[in-house]
Amino acid sequence: MKKGTKLYSVFRGKCPRCHEGDMFETRNPYILTKTMAMHDECPVCGESFNPEPGFYFGAMYVSYGLGVAQFVATWVALIVLGVDSHPAVVFAWVLFIVLALAPLSFRLSRKIWINAFVKYEANPEKKMINKKI
Ligand SMILES: [Zn+2]
Repeated sequence: MKKGTKLYSVFRGKCPRCHEGDMFETRNPYILTKTMAMHDECPVCGESFNPEPGFYFGAMYVSYGLGVAQFVATWVALIVLGVDSHPAVVFAWVLFIVLALAPLSFRLSRKIWINAFVKYEANPEKKMINKKI
């Protein structure tokens, strides 16, 4: 993936502005005590990862879309694989897949959401907004 594209920031979990600093404290979303732990700002360029209160409420719409995509993909996969199509079996599989992917979906939706609002800059100046002098 090429640095400077939105996909690079989204899939690598990098700052949407500089593509250098990590957005989350750990790279592995399945360390469940740290799944939601984000830096307040980019450790490299200082871009705020929480630009306003409630900023990530909008990420719930992205998360909803991801959930629907996971549902449809699971359903199609069950049909293609010829698994029993009883509604209870389909529901159990969908529930399992969606829960298994929940940490990934959580982070992915936040990364997609912030990338919708912050533009990439090749050599950004360090922001000092949240620094106490
Ligand atoms: Zn940055």
